[in-house]
Amino acid sequence: MTQIAFIGLGNMGSGMCANLCKAGHDVHAFDLSAEAVKAAAEQGAKPAATLADAVSGAEVIVSMLPAGKHVLSVYFGDDGVASHAAPGTLFLDCSTISVEDAREAASKAEAAGFPMVDAPVSGGTAAADAGTLTFMVGGPDEAFAKAKPILDVMGKNIFHAGGSGNGQAAKIANNMLLGISMIGTCEAFNLAEKLGLDAQTFYDISSTASGQCWSMTSYCPAPGPVPTAPSNRDYKPGFAVAMMLKDLHLAAGAAKAAGAEIALGEMAEKIYEDLDSRGHGGLDFSGVMKDIKRQLD
Ligand code: NAD
Repeated sequence: MTQIAFIGLGNMGSGMCANLCKAGHDVHAFDLSAEAVKAAAEQGAKPAATLADAVSGAEVIVSMLPAGKHVLSVYFGDDGVASHAAPGTLFLDCSTISVEDAREAASKAEAAGFPMVDAPVSGGTAAADAGTLTFMVGGPDEAFAKAKPILDVMGKNIFHAGGSGNGQAAKIANNMLLGISMIGTCEAFNLAEKLGLDAQTFYDISSTASGQCWSMTSYCPAPGPVPTAPSNRDYKPGFAVAMMLKDLHLAAGAAKAAGAEIALGEMAEKIYEDLDSRGHGGLDFSGVMKDIKRQLD
């Protein structure tokens, strides 16, 4: 049993925290929302009134926060985690943040004597609740080895992607590809339909031919062929446009800093930005299909 402080009990963090409790760990939960802390307590966590309370006595800090600025301030701001944690406490941040912020956080942690890993996830709230997330981890070997048993409780596939920030790099490169492939899949189904093929016929052919991809076979944006896909429930998320846009912004920022050409990534960013600015941020990201069919304002 490990004493864990869990910070950030939102859509994702609540399920992850509950799984750590179920596995028998002593979890002290904190969030700015008192309601979220109460809900975590109902799932077996010890409610913490302050960040300092949560961190006191913890061997591992797990965080699941909205963005990089929250991570930097929670860990290294005035009265943050670093000013309360015992020397050597493992910092395990699962939030999706920029590679740059993740590396800044890791170097601040190292300078203060704390091992830290970035461990962003793939998989949504259902995977968080079920403990089947994929974790992409960046950080030194020793820190990864300490994080692994904790991550095993919350996830199914745990990858060590290399040094600090490499977890975030893997995540945003993967999600940029997902955004691009989803738009391409929508365009292909729409074109096939306009040329006289129904969705199932095109699916049967393309899913066993060279156009096959995850966006098609696991998350088909045309209603019908994949019954569990959001396209069968009027594109209710799933994974929302606003979340995809966040990841594409991170990819664009990282590509600029690294001097990497991402012509299609930038185009995908524009397409999701346009959907979001027209009030469709809450639509599933496969809802690009509706826009291509001119069914959205
Ligand atoms: P969320 O907004 O539901 O939860 C974030 C929680 O952090 C909130 O409860 C908020 O009150 C809390 N918080 C914010 N600032 C805080 C602070 N200073 N101290 C303590 N608590 C604080 O977000 P989410 O959907 O759970 O996503 C969390 C992270 O996971 C994000 O980085 C997101 O990009 C990533 N992610 C989300 C999904 C998804 O499907 N929701 C999938 C993969 C990755």
